[in-house]
Amino acid sequence: QSPVPSDIAVSRAQRPKNIKTVAKELGLTENEVELFGAYKAKVKLDVYDRLKHRKDGKYVLVAGITPTPLGEGKSTTTMGISQALGAHLGKICFANVRQPSQGPTFGIKGGAAGGGYAQVIPMDEFNMHLTGDIHAITAANNLLAAAIDTRMFHEATQKDKALYSRLVPKKKGVREFAPIWFRRLRKLGINKTNPDDLTEEEITRFARLDIDPETITWKRVLDVNDRHLRQIEIGLAPTEKGHRRVTGFDISVASEVMAVLALSTDLADMRERLGRMVIGTSKQGEPVTCDDLGVGGALTALMKDAIKPNLMQTLEGTPVFVHAGPFANISIGASSVIADKLALKLAGTEEDEDPVEKAGYVVTEAGFDFTMGGERFFNIKCRSSGLVPDVVVIVATVRALKVHGGGPDISPGAPLAEEYRTENVELLRKGCVNLAKHIANAKSYGVPVIVAVNKFETDTDAEIQCIREEAVKAGAEDAIMANHWAEGGKGAIDLAKGIIEASQKPKDFKLLYDENLSIVEKLEAIATKMYGAAGIELTENAKKQAETYTRQGFSHLPVCIAKTQYSLSHDASLKGAPTGFTVPIRDIKMSPGAGYLYAKAADIQTIPGLPTAPGYINVDVDMETGEIEGLF
Ligand code: ADP
Repeated sequence: QSPVPSDIAVSRAQRPKNIKTVAKELGLTENEVELFGAYKAKVKLDVYDRLKHRKDGKYVLVAGITPTPLGEGKSTTTMGISQALGAHLGKICFANVRQPSQGPTFGIKGGAAGGGYAQVIPMDEFNMHLTGDIHAITAANNLLAAAIDTRMFHEATQKDKALYSRLVPKKKGVREFAPIWFRRLRKLGINKTNPDDLTEEEITRFARLDIDPETITWKRVLDVNDRHLRQIEIGLAPTEKGHRRVTGFDISVASEVMAVLALSTDLADMRERLGRMVIGTSKQGEPVTCDDLGVGGALTALMKDAIKPNLMQTLEGTPVFVHAGPFANISIGASSVIADKLALKLAGTEEDEDPVEKAGYVVTEAGFDFTMGGERFFNIKCRSSGLVPDVVVIVATVRALKVHGGGPDISPGAPLAEEYRTENVELLRKGCVNLAKHIANAKSYGVPVIVAVNKFETDTDAEIQCIREEAVKAGAEDAIMANHWAEGGKGAIDLAKGIIEASQKPKDFKLLYDENLSIVEKLEAIATKMYGAAGIELTENAKKQAETYTRQGFSHLPVCIAKTQYSLSHDASLKGAPTGFTVPIRDIKMSPGAGYLYAKAADIQTIPGLPTAPGYINVDVDMETGEIEGLF
């Protein structure tokens, strides 16, 4: 029996500070925060302008080794480090994390608030609804979906001229363009001021009356693991006059709108990105964008509050920004650029302050292992934000490294095999090849690396020592054991001190690839240099897609490879640090609004299903106290 109670019991036992107090401690004024009850607040973006002159605080990226299906504690360690720095070492320290999706919360994985004595609280508010950002994303995504089908419906049921008359109606006998249409006309190179002067051809281009239904990639979304929506037929009611189409749903967090939220740098940038999203092509093969349909402005209106980061706190009252939560497989799996930029200023130093002594910290997390999440963090998120981490922390566990040494597979719910309950240094040492590859990969970006050994009850001193030796041999500054899960911030003080020291070391930052390489060259660079592959092999389909995107002018975008997180390779059964394999690239898609292409090296479900015994079975509300129970 573990002495540490369940996550929700720990969360509930601690009375959080009023969020106004947390905001005040950060120097935020009353006008800069928008309260959502007592424990959550949105922080306005004007704060960034007020603090722009400050030197940024230190930026710490937490990533992991190749995990087991149980998770090796990245979120828990992110919280542990922040609690140690913030509540024990007297620094301002933000933990910047993703907003959890309702899918995994009620499905299999459980919440993402960390665990044990290193958590975001209150965890029920964190895990459900938060301040409604995911709901806003769902609304924005689906407004665009409705706009696409409606435009095609009207195109088919009205004559071009008639549709145009309705799109650009006459007021007092004069046809009036909405101001937004003028921008679009100029973009199309149509320099006319009187809308009545447009030719038939110009009207067709302007009103986008030529969408090819076969090419539409935009889907509807919902934040539920509802697998039966993966493929659906729409337009079955008689009112749609036979305009049926096979399409499907994704989970909201897989929407490009979510990735736009994560990567935008300010409101104007978000407006541009939303407008740039491509939904399919015209019959001539030109990309059709959200702005072509005239809906980019409305999407921005729906998203204008979601762009403000959400302030919460850890169990020890240190600040947390919860903001954005894109899927970790087909997207970047990291929280927002805006939250990081804002937190780095709030944790930053004034000109007359000593930047070594006074600097605060922003600890943020990249989903999956370093080689997927960390690679995208650098090559997509940092490329877009211009920010550079001062330290990379790689979270390792004894149990996962033993799996990489050849130990039996670990699966949720099943009892742990003998190897994982007793000391076995030999097996562990073999598995450290996996850690060594992640360290080498992280070091290739020119940033100091610290290994955090997330301690489990069964770990022995000899095992921790073994990881330390192998990590230092592989080029890490140090490997430090941390016991924050059982002890809170106090258990991560040594780790936090190691991070402070490493963050003072010089950096020699470089990205993995130049954006001007071809799409195939970029995929090759990631597969060979990061994964250890011999090369890549594109299907005919993927080759054509790469050619099309290149012709359409999107080849400069960075690329994200979607593959299993359970191996450095594309094959989950290859443990350790495999070499010599060829990564199959089956399909390439693009998210030009978010600003990247993504290639699938596996069949990736973009709306998960629910297991036989899903998380929701245990959840209820206590009728006497009104409190939620059963959330992990
Ligand atoms: P990740 O972010 O890497 O997926 P999490 O931090 O969410 O992993 O942790 C996964 C689960 O493991 C959580 O339920 C957490 O409470 C538990 N956990 C994390 N660290 C420990 C530990 N040192 N001992 C026991 N359980 C832990």
